Amino acid sequence: MRPIDKGNIPLDKNGNIKRVKDHKDWRKDLIDRIGDYCVYCELKLTVSPQVEHVIAANIASALKLTWENLLLACRPCNGAKSDKPCPPTTHYLPDMHNTYLAFQLNFQFNPKQDNEEGAFITYSSTLDANQKVKAQNTIELCALDEDTTNKRYPDRVTDLRWKERYSAYREANELRTDWDEWGNTMKDKFIKLLMKVALGKGFFSIWFYKFDDVPEIKKALVESFPGTAKNCFDISNDYNPIWRNLPNDI
Ligand SMILES: [Zn+2]
Repeated sequence: MRPIDKGNIPLDKNGNIKRVKDHKDWRKDLIDRIGDYCVYCELKLTVSPQVEHVIAANIASALKLTWENLLLACRPCNGAKSDKPCPPTTHYLPDMHNTYLAFQLNFQFNPKQDNEEGAFITYSSTLDANQKVKAQNTIELCALDEDTTNKRYPDRVTDLRWKERYSAYREANELRTDWDEWGNTMKDKFIKLLMKVALGKGFFSIWFYKFDDVPEIKKALVESFPGTAKNCFDISNDYNPIWRNLPNDI
């Protein structure tokens, strides 16, 4: 899960702190700051990005329109999350922690969809026992290890996160092979092309993982995906991910 930093409250045309009447009024600002990707599953939000309350509006109505409390999510993540509580003490959150370090992919067959292979999310094997609990809470919050589609009606599927994630993984695999075979002999051109594909496809973490031994590509990913939290990657050490220096990060 890409760690993000959406920055301070946007200003209006007159340079004053922007006020909104509806939380959806932040949509354009959020896309400008963090790109049109679901902050939880990293899906590219080609259409209908949903402005999502981190703390649900019915838990904290005072935060209903508050910039700090709003992110972008896809429909399955937002729907699964609904109005469940997710304090940063018990959950890893992309704007609070270095969520890249908390999760990894899990390949499994989807029993709801003809046992087709897909990629689901699990906690990182490098976490300690407490961290795993915290990561698992986030996975369950957004159903990142599930297909939320009702299995009784397979033709009515809407939750295809597992499939898109798998497709991005395969594409990243192919481009990794290309990099090893010829891409690294024309680095600048290849990286430019790779960023185009990665930004079009989404899933920052998959690309970062597949090229985790290529610092110049990690740098390009961190800089190309809008609003990636730069303090989560050590620029003096090959852009390796580091925990974010905030309370409850670990
Ligand atoms: Zn999502």
